[in-house]
Amino acid sequence: MGQFAAAREQVVATCRALLERGYLKATEGNVSVRVPGRDAFAITPSNYDYAKMKAADICVLDFALERLEGERKASIESGMHAAVYQERPDVNAIVHTHQPYASALALVRQPIPALFDEQVRFLGRSVEIIDYAPSGTGFLKKNVRKRITSGDNAFILANHGVLVLGGDVDRAVFNMALLEKVALDYLLALMTGEKVSKVPAPIREIAFAKLRGDEKKLKKQLEEAREAESLAPAATAGSAADEAAGGAAEAADAAAARAAAQTEPAGGIAPGEPAGAQLAGYAISAYPDVADVYARLDRLVSRPLRAIRRPAMDEYLDYFETKCRRSKELTDEAVELIPGGVQHNLAFNYPFPLAIEKAEGAHLWDVDGNEYIDFLQAGGPTVLGSNYAPLREKVAEVVAASGPVTGLFHEYELKLAELVHRLMPSIEMFRMLGSGTESVMAAIRGARAFTGKKWVIKFGGAYHGWSDQMVYGLHVPGTWRFEAKGIPFGATGRTREVFPNDLKALRRKLQENKLAGGTAAVIVEPIGPESGTRPVPFDLNARVRELCDEFGALLIFDEVVTGFRLGLGGAQGYFGVRPDLTVFGKCITGGYPMAGGVGGSRDVMMSFASGIGGKSGERAYIGGTLSANPLSCAAGYFAISEMERTNAPVLAGRGGDRLTAGLKEIIARYKLPFVAFNQGSIVHLETSGVMLLDLKSPIRFAREMKPRKHMMEEMGAAYTAGGLITLAGSRMYTSMADTDEVIDDALARFESVLASVEGV
Ligand code: PLP
Repeated sequence: MGQFAAAREQVVATCRALLERGYLKATEGNVSVRVPGRDAFAITPSNYDYAKMKAADICVLDFALERLEGERKASIESGMHAAVYQERPDVNAIVHTHQPYASALALVRQPIPALFDEQVRFLGRSVEIIDYAPSGTGFLKKNVRKRITSGDNAFILANHGVLVLGGDVDRAVFNMALLEKVALDYLLALMTGEKVSKVPAPIREIAFAKLRGDEKKLKKQLEEAREAESLAPAATAGSAADEAAGGAAEAADAAAARAAAQTEPAGGIAPGEPAGAQLAGYAISAYPDVADVYARLDRLVSRPLRAIRRPAMDEYLDYFETKCRRSKELTDEAVELIPGGVQHNLAFNYPFPLAIEKAEGAHLWDVDGNEYIDFLQAGGPTVLGSNYAPLREKVAEVVAASGPVTGLFHEYELKLAELVHRLMPSIEMFRMLGSGTESVMAAIRGARAFTGKKWVIKFGGAYHGWSDQMVYGLHVPGTWRFEAKGIPFGATGRTREVFPNDLKALRRKLQENKLAGGTAAVIVEPIGPESGTRPVPFDLNARVRELCDEFGALLIFDEVVTGFRLGLGGAQGYFGVRPDLTVFGKCITGGYPMAGGVGGSRDVMMSFASGIGGKSGERAYIGGTLSANPLSCAAGYFAISEMERTNAPVLAGRGGDRLTAGLKEIIARYKLPFVAFNQGSIVHLETSGVMLLDLKSPIRFAREMKPRKHMMEEMGAAYTAGGLITLAGSRMYTSMADTDEVIDDALARFESVLASVEGV
């Protein structure tokens, strides 16, 4: 389609993103993207429906507004866009829309002062009003040019709409969402008639200085990347298709090797076929109908909340006050010494945390002697059931002999590595670490060391532990650094997120990253973000593999949850996709401490070599005083061996199937809007839909996050009072200990809670 195909595609994709989020309507507004390395930009055509827009409809103009490509008449605001690109070299994408809340401020000429640190950090010191001038005129262009020298990224055009700038298209879309949120907040605050407080000026200046600093860095990186590209002979080749072919050629050797490897059935499973259908080795008996799950989840989120009736909820809360007194005493005391009184993110804290005294198989007992069915299973690692006696005895024997740690090599390190390699052939080499979080850090470090590239892409909402670089797009897709308190901008500066299952966006990011030094790795939770809460279509992992091969990026499977729980071959065995690196946690030690590991192809894993053959200075440094200790390695070896002997993942999966079928039946019988589905022993029960909110609908997110989260807390508390421990009131992990009797008992308990929901 010509030499500017990539920029034109980007404009279309940006329009789609804005259209989906409701910021663009019909034909209003316009969007442009700078053409890298040229005095040119790609811009939407004049008066043309966004829903119909294709790359061929996009115009490419130089800064004198001479047409370089495209047949249609360019937006009448092209002059304004050209002026911005000329005045602001840090800007690479521009969005002009008529979104309602900010437009309301345009009518009353209210600039938005610095209301939030986050706002200043991304939008600038304030959102100023640009004086009125009719659309498409040189006057408007002049007014815009005058104002944008402030370095801010968002402006309100008097009687017109808004103008938002970004260092890249993602940032421009993000800034647009943030502006609309801030405009809404400001309007609401103004409506109260109270004085509106602003961020203190010194803080505002610090936040703004950071914004400018980032933009300078980004500009420098892009320029360096462009210089490097223009020196490479392949870079002069015209079309995006050629560019892609260049990328593929770059990765050709690696891709060919992986393609060959993929035809080898991983773990004895034919590629692309659900292993569970053929073998007894996997926990998933039937892959969920993903389209149907999303349709039901969408319906759930679009409806009003159906919470527990107040009198019933009061009774559930009374259970805690009257039956859990010792837990309350202990956790009240703990609040004084332990921040928040409890140290586990997965622990249920509403109305207060329970203190657990005993765990066995499918059950837990709290310090007040109350018994519960345990569907938390420590957050996933205990597929054999809690505190499995044969495992405890084996671990005790090893600890009795060598103690928990010596700091020297122990045979169980080798035994565990051999076992993991046998069960997952992609793991040619393996290193044991302390946690899933550490192992993700290691995998990313290894990928960067091996590829020499910097960027890492994840799917929004996925949890990959809490290292600096991964607290990004956490839990809620599209939220970027919303949870990154205490994390410097630079630490997340090379992390990018794409919305779950959006392969087009992934390709776009890979393409953009290619201009800026390349993508080291794409990291995925193979069943979907948040342990499959947002499930993936069955072929998604294979498609991600193809994209990684095309762009020379490594594919990291984060199998912290799925590793051995989905089956002994992990998600990679089930989906028949061979990752370059795999991250382990949880089950790798069967629930014993120091649960982490990273494994993968020999060439990449040799980046981590220490000891024999390891060269200091050339390796990617990883370590840990207690990593790979005899206790953890022996626990992992015996737990996984026992899971193999007993077929525990499959048995746990059957429990998950029975639980899900029972929940679906109750939901249907009571005509509730709730959604139950499972991936084997990972069972999801969405009642409030909070986990499904995202920043594609920022207004809904802002309005509904709190009440939906609170409802989920109440559901969790009600289940607990009914004798069921769940993960955050919306997920259940089943184990081998979940016999039919246990599941039927649990279903009766769930039914009594669900029967107390409003309208039943
Ligand atoms: N990755 C995934 C998919 C996880 O679910 C988790 C933890 O829940 C982690 C990484 C982090 O592991 P850890 O809690 O051991 O640090």
